Amino acid sequence: MEHEKKRFLSYICPHCRQSVIVERDLFSLAASTNHIKCPCGKSELTVDFMPNRVQLTVPCLFCGREHTVSCPSHAFIREKALAFSCAASGLDCCYVGEEGPVYAATARLEQAVDKLEEDAEEKGAFLDEIVMHEVLSEIKDIAQRGGISCACGSRNWTFQVNYSSVDLICAECGAQMRVPAATADDIDDICCKTNLLIRGKEKE
Ligand SMILES: [Zn+2]
Ligand SMILES: [Zn+2]
Ligand SMILES: [Zn+2]
Repeated sequence: MEHEKKRFLSYICPHCRQSVIVERDLFSLAASTNHIKCPCGKSELTVDFMPNRVQLTVPCLFCGREHTVSCPSHAFIREKALAFSCAASGLDCCYVGEEGPVYAATARLEQAVDKLEEDAEEKGAFLDEIVMHEVLSEIKDIAQRGGISCACGSRNWTFQVNYSSVDLICAECGAQMRVPAATADDIDDICCKTNLLIRGKEKE
């Protein structure tokens, strides 16, 4: 059947925050591991056909990690819209399906992201307030010891607090580094660091 030959896949890039929506035919998806890259080049979704399942690795905007998710092959091939979600935030991080439903779901997710980021900025509404508080105070400690720098050599930086992460931004070259602030693991991760290096703009 015609409509079963194409699949649309989408996710939101954690680096540039653009939605990445692509169309792939099932033959090329099944042939080998697919790397679906954001045009910014800093994140990619991978799709792997296993014997009975399809496995995806999804870069997550919300928690800054990568999620490995899977579903039965027949669902991947036939469902109008499949949603995969982030275990830390419970929010969707990837859609697979037909064109219309995938575009609609992605547009709704974009709106949800805008709303969450607005609330984070205005009301200090975070995924987990305690985690955010701890992560911010760790960043402050590292900064006080002069531990934050950029690969370009700059030590001038600013930061932006998001719903479930903090972005460190180099004031010289604009490079960004996302520090996840979603779960207790994120506190452990940053606790053991004495330096944070913002990577300069990477080349492909
Ligand atoms: Zn991107
Ligand atoms: Zn996540
Ligand atoms: Zn820099």
